[in-house]
Amino acid sequence: MVRVDGRQSLELINAARQVIIAGHRQPDGDCWGSMAGLCGLLVQKGKQVRMFMDEPLTDQYRFLPFADRAEKTPERPVQADLLVLLDIDLANRERLSYDPAKVTAPVLNIDHHPTNGATADYVWLEPERAATACLIDELIRLGQGRLTGELATCLYTGLACDTGFFRNRNTSAETFELAGRLAVAGADVWAVSENLQRVSQQFVRVMSEVLQTVEYHWRGRVALAAVRADQIDIETVDTSEIVSFLRIIDGVETAVLLKQSRTGSIRVSFRSGSRDVGKLAQKLGGGGHRYAAGCTFPAGDIAAARRMVLAGLAREYGDQEYDRIIEYNKTARDDQSGGFVEAEAIFAAPDQGWARGNA
Ligand code: 5GP
Ligand code: MN
Repeated sequence: MVRVDGRQSLELINAARQVIIAGHRQPDGDCWGSMAGLCGLLVQKGKQVRMFMDEPLTDQYRFLPFADRAEKTPERPVQADLLVLLDIDLANRERLSYDPAKVTAPVLNIDHHPTNGATADYVWLEPERAATACLIDELIRLGQGRLTGELATCLYTGLACDTGFFRNRNTSAETFELAGRLAVAGADVWAVSENLQRVSQQFVRVMSEVLQTVEYHWRGRVALAAVRADQIDIETVDTSEIVSFLRIIDGVETAVLLKQSRTGSIRVSFRSGSRDVGKLAQKLGGGGHRYAAGCTFPAGDIAAARRMVLAGLAREYGDQEYDRIIEYNKTARDDQSGGFVEAEAIFAAPDQGWARGNA
């Protein structure tokens, strides 16, 4: 692994003829925007460029220039001079947007997640930046590329998504400066707002289900909600707005949403206004940012996952609730209804017991 900066990343890209661009599964606006923006830049440079995304382009992102060039990882193995991996850690195998077994290429990982373990061949990591799209903008500037309206729309999508439309804590003078430049360059700001904010009827059904499961802990400082796979088709619904909504309930500092997928695995989303949920998610096998993070539990009981999360939160919020969790756990075990041995194990060995492998 070699740490690189923007200039060195640009040199690696310039030296490559065939470039593959990839990101993460369940791609959000920053993933799509960074991938499409880099794709546009490389097209401009006359590179042979392919984008690998093993998930369909949803209606929400169809407006994005270049996004329709994304394809699934081909069945037949491919080689390239460079694979640029955006907005995700290479070690996070299950969340990669492509099949790494099918691609032979040195990997340049460009990311802004502080929990990135930096295992790619080259890593350009800027945890202070609000979005991966900010780094693509830097590549354009360093290489004196043309910031066309199309490229600006892509990057604005990433920036707007990861700052929650300039409301999250990562919003700063720098994000407004970039947003301003992108607007001047011709970013279709309205199209981004309209497409990213629009929700499906199914989303409304999910929202109404989720809101009925909200529970509060630590005197209302933590809100937690859950959805089971049989309640709703969770895979096709982006729930990041739901967990963000839970966080703005009066008195709530930290919000958690548990989602069981059809395969049984449980995805957990954390949002906080003041607590380092990135660290917490990392200890539970996931990662993310300081105030927005997530992890995935392998197939199992959603109730057990809930208790696991509460046990993790108990470290932040105090033991009183933890005692209740352990009590709950004992009852669950006596009932034979849940295998919640993990929380006790965690607390018995705080710093070794946590890791559950990379989610
Ligand atoms: P979300 O809650 O929107 O799914 O994710 C919030 C943030 O946490 C995103 O920046 C995402 O990259 C990160 N994140 C979510 N789930 C995981 C996970 O399982 N592993 C890692 N490393 N990061 C995650
Ligand atoms: Mn991002």
